[in-house]
Amino acid sequence: MKIHEYQAKELFRQANIPVPMGYAASTVDEAIAAAAKLSTPKVVVKAQIHAGGRGKGGGVKVVDNTPEAVRTAATAILGMQLITHQTGPEGQTVKSLLIEEGSAIATELYLSFILDRANSQVLVMASPDGGMDIEEVAEKTPERLLKRHIHPAVGMPAYLVREICQFLAIPKEGAKEAAQLITNLYNLYVEKDCSLVEINPLVVTTDNRVLALDGKVTFDSNALYRHPAIVALRDTDEEDPLEVEASKFNLNYIKLDGNVACMVNGAGLAMATMDIIKLVGEKTGAAPANFLDVGGSASQDGIENAFRIIMSDPSVEVVLINIFGGILRCDKLANGVVAAAKNLDMKLPMVIRMKGTNVEQGKEILANSDIQFAVAETMKEAAEKVVQFLKQPVGV
Ligand code: GDP
Ligand code: MN
Repeated sequence: MKIHEYQAKELFRQANIPVPMGYAASTVDEAIAAAAKLSTPKVVVKAQIHAGGRGKGGGVKVVDNTPEAVRTAATAILGMQLITHQTGPEGQTVKSLLIEEGSAIATELYLSFILDRANSQVLVMASPDGGMDIEEVAEKTPERLLKRHIHPAVGMPAYLVREICQFLAIPKEGAKEAAQLITNLYNLYVEKDCSLVEINPLVVTTDNRVLALDGKVTFDSNALYRHPAIVALRDTDEEDPLEVEASKFNLNYIKLDGNVACMVNGAGLAMATMDIIKLVGEKTGAAPANFLDVGGSASQDGIENAFRIIMSDPSVEVVLINIFGGILRCDKLANGVVAAAKNLDMKLPMVIRMKGTNVEQGKEILANSDIQFAVAETMKEAAEKVVQFLKQPVGV
């Protein structure tokens, strides 16, 4: 789960990680009132969306701390469709702002903690080249990016904190503050079950203060049950509407940009299904429209909801149902699919592959229904039938 910068900075404040003073605002008047509470000659008006790269897209403006200047900047940014390299081509509508004290920046640095799944450790990354795309630094000047693993049982060792400060060339006046910040950020990462905390840029000011000028925090969704206060920070406006809908029914759904809707039980089978669509359909432009794991114990209702969600995606041209009947028996699945297809007045071609418990009964239910299904025995055959449907106009 992601949160906004202003929420991340509130968590930073609570964790003793220095941030500029600032307030969130969702109207131009609120923005002006917020700026009036700040005493710096400059203020920063920042778009709050769940994506980085806002600066380059025109979503961050440093302006004079006057009501007129703040009004102009806030009016320009609020409601804009902000397009960055992380939003996708359609961009994201800006619904709130962060109004912050302007900082006198001497240097912009980069600092992050992320989970390294490959070796089950936390990875800390630091670079003296902050404010830029860190992927670019990693690719073009890898020697400017320090990467170190932290064993969770050991925690953040003092020598590593010193190594990072040295690598970042923190001036000695700011060394103590920087060391505290690095340690506190690691503790926040662990205590709040984060999967990422990133400060880009972390800045040293002209008077040698060390501040988090940006803040990106992502939480491990599987651990959210331990953090009700963090769940309360969720902003579903920033998420894909179909994914929000699916989460209400405990469906594991991820929207993708292809044309073949997939309904599968089990995450592994769902991944394999997406792979075979790609493998068989690559040249014909077939690609998965979604990842969907309906779970092992989906009810008829669950199947209908899943159907409704995958069908709400306008790019879908064919549906591929691939179910292994274990806990969810094939006859129950077939009944669910037939009912859902009828209720939703399904017009698109459907390919179905079932295996497992009660598969014969399942096939009979499909055959006796007045809905048209193409039945496949193997996954490859299923994918080939999907491709066939894509090649011919619907209904032929
Ligand atoms: P992002 O583009 O979404 O990552 O947004 P950031 O919060 O990182 O802001 C982008 C850039 O705006 C930063 O790298 C800074 O160069 C600049 N910026 C942000 N806040 C201030 C500030 O208080 N003073 C000055 N001078 N520049 C700022
Ligand atoms: Mn940034």
